[in-house]
Amino acid sequence: MNPVHCVNKQGNMSLGAYNPVMSGEERTYEAGAFEPSFPKGRGSGTLTVSAVSLRFSGKAGVLELPLAGLTVSLGGASDRVIFFKHPSRPDTTVHTTDHAILKEEAFSHYPELTPQITKVHGKKRGNLAVFLGVILAILGLVGGIIAARDPMVNAVVKRIPPEWEVKLGESVFGSITSKSPPLEDAALEKHLEALTAPLLRGIGPQPYPFKFHIIDDDTINAFALPGGHVVIHSELILKAESPEEVAGVLAHEIAHVTKRHSMRNLVETTGTYFVFRVFLGDVSDLVGVLVRNGRYLLNQKYSRDHEREADEAGWGYLLAADVNPRGMITFFEKLAAEQGDGTVAAVQESLAFMSTHPATSERIARLEELAKSLPKDKQYQGFDLNFKEFQDSLRAKLKAGEKSATTKPKPGENQ
Ligand SMILES: [Zn+2]
Repeated sequence: MNPVHCVNKQGNMSLGAYNPVMSGEERTYEAGAFEPSFPKGRGSGTLTVSAVSLRFSGKAGVLELPLAGLTVSLGGASDRVIFFKHPSRPDTTVHTTDHAILKEEAFSHYPELTPQITKVHGKKRGNLAVFLGVILAILGLVGGIIAARDPMVNAVVKRIPPEWEVKLGESVFGSITSKSPPLEDAALEKHLEALTAPLLRGIGPQPYPFKFHIIDDDTINAFALPGGHVVIHSELILKAESPEEVAGVLAHEIAHVTKRHSMRNLVETTGTYFVFRVFLGDVSDLVGVLVRNGRYLLNQKYSRDHEREADEAGWGYLLAADVNPRGMITFFEKLAAEQGDGTVAAVQESLAFMSTHPATSERIARLEELAKSLPKDKQYQGFDLNFKEFQDSLRAKLKAGEKSATTKPKPGENQ
């Protein structure tokens, strides 16, 4: 056991003390060893490097591996551990996590060690590069999520089947029409069909069964529900001067549906956590969230970006339908003018539409920019529709409705 004490003593002395026996200062490195002759086959202790050998010393015993023929490699958790082996003792391994040992001057006198140490250094650098790469990737991901919130929301919305939107729209539509039922009239329906059919042809195949309804309401408004129900207030049709103006508003509403703005709003307002869950494939919560938010859809405000997108997509739908898209501009201008004319009635009238569809001068300006690129002498096919007749039949229907409301028909009586 003497050598153990001796080596230990030497090791202890080397902690800062000059050892006159050895050439230069001898450092010790925290180490471990696998050695069959040790109790339990292993031990912990320290490593020292002399001019000719690598020495492990611990309570379990002492091991000495010649530097000539020594092999050096990196391994263990995260490649943090340096392993030393020697062919003369194939079952023995000593190891340390103290990489400073690689700088021992004695190693440089053994040419076969140099490439191994270089390789270990290279692996370390490689690991550092991987580590830095991972950190950068994480930072990039976090930054990317912040920057790519919109694409993220869109990715989530893409996972929502259109049929769910249709179902949701049906349930909301049911709750609206129980209070203000759509006007049912063969002539009105014929006119409305003539107005909307070209638009639907223009947008092409869609997963949404679009359906248009007129309700008796004296505010200028129109709104679309997710899934394809589009509700038009009677006053909007009566205040419009051309079918192109109504079509402009409807094209804009259709675009809110095709661009799934309601769903995007829902996903955005229900929060990042929800977004992540759906993004990771868990869409089971969605139905509940949608049902709870059904009413919310009626009062939602679209973002400025959504309005702009609906304007631009709607503009495209009008062109595809061969309808003069300038009607969209003139109607927005009309609303803006009414809003600005100061009479309380006019303001109230236009506010309903404005509150959900802020017809800002900015939006009108953007549309006028789009209009600049329209061919000047282009003839549009327009509508196979007598708009005046449409408005007249609507007025007549509303009057009849008023009459029947004041006469209060008994149940079963024809209205
Ligand atoms: Zn809108």
